[in-house]
Amino acid sequence: MSMRRGIAILGSTGSIGRSTLAVIALHPEAFKVAVLGAFSSWQVIVEQAKVFHPDVVVLVDEEAAAKARAALRDCGSATQVESGERALSSAVSAADVHMVMAAIVGAAGLQSTLAAVRAGKRVFLANKEALVMTGRLLMDEVCRAGAELIPIDSEHNAIFQCMPAGYLPGNPARGVTRVILTASGGPFRSIAAEKMAHVTPDEACAHPKWKMGRKISVDSATLMNKGLEVIEATLLFGLTESQVDVVVHPQSVVHSLVEYADGSMLAQLGAPDMRTPIAQALAWPERFASGVQSLDLVAIGQLGFEPPDHVRFPSLTLARAAARAGGTAPTVLNAANEVAVQAFLDRRLNFVGISTVIDKVLQRLNASPVKALGDVLDADAAARRLANTFIDPAHGAFA
Ligand code: NAD
Ligand code: MG
Repeated sequence: MSMRRGIAILGSTGSIGRSTLAVIALHPEAFKVAVLGAFSSWQVIVEQAKVFHPDVVVLVDEEAAAKARAALRDCGSATQVESGERALSSAVSAADVHMVMAAIVGAAGLQSTLAAVRAGKRVFLANKEALVMTGRLLMDEVCRAGAELIPIDSEHNAIFQCMPAGYLPGNPARGVTRVILTASGGPFRSIAAEKMAHVTPDEACAHPKWKMGRKISVDSATLMNKGLEVIEATLLFGLTESQVDVVVHPQSVVHSLVEYADGSMLAQLGAPDMRTPIAQALAWPERFASGVQSLDLVAIGQLGFEPPDHVRFPSLTLARAAARAGGTAPTVLNAANEVAVQAFLDRRLNFVGISTVIDKVLQRLNASPVKALGDVLDADAAARRLANTFIDPAHGAFA
């Protein structure tokens, strides 16, 4: 019998998915890649399948799945190719899948993340939007199913590492008074306010410290990423919004800190490379190599910390308000943000318009309690519809 543990990687063709496979490639004796899943990048996933020989490849897009199926059949591969969103959920629930990397971007990752949690798997959570939009509901499912949720987001993984030994998200963080999320400040940290309306999608995606997918790159530029992370931290670690602080730390060396009742602050440091949090989660509770270079503190020299600018970056304020309002407010915030970011990437909305649209949607849709998944899905759909009405296709963003 193999000692290798079965892993499913959803979003395998993306930034986190590729970093995950890079770490797994260093430890072939430890993992059996059972499932690879993505939306439509069939050429990439076929190449991944040739290297990692998964039992199943899922491409949500049917046409792309057909192309991958033909390509893999032609090279004599035994990998089965499936299509459709449902196939993602059934693939992660299979008995020989022990761990699931949830790295689909946005609300599109919700159903498969939820399926992995409900099947009681060890879930590596990169897809923060799934948690933000469902709130307590997802954490309750984690407890009910006896799943293990390990954060991949570098800040939350840092906090997880600074928690007492044996701590798992979803439990009260004993002795913890506060956590401090660090933010790089993004590509527009020091840009003048009047220039912000004119920045382009490519400028917004040119992150100074991290190479990421385009959606999260824009979120980092607006600081909405940090806003989503504040909500993510309250849910994972059972904290109130006021117990989650944010400091801008341009070097991106300190990934976050935990403050204890006795005044101690524990921090996790490392190079800004997602392979470190990914390897920490994959090996947990052990440790193994990630392929990341060790830090040269003397070369770094100085670590800086400054407060975030809420005037130029109103998204952080909006996210904090949604966190305090609770219920469907984070769902609405997340959905409006996804619509606005896509419109910005498509050049149908300017950069400043992103937070304006989210603000308008939040003002119009009052928060209501979340009792069941249906409440989340309804609020998500309503927020998307309303957000689209605020994005006027006639007003080109860069006119
Ligand atoms: P990415 O855009 O590089 O990759 C997204 C992946 O999701 C791709 O594999 C794509 O095929 C898949 N996908 C997209 N839409 C889908 C759909 N409808 N159905 C199924 N699959 C779909 O994104 P990324 O940067 O890897 O980010 C993935 C997640 O991880 C996001 O939630 C992001 O917030 C989070 N995250 C990323 C980083 C990072 O450094 N990239 C850091 C922290 C958290
Ligand atoms: Mg992060």
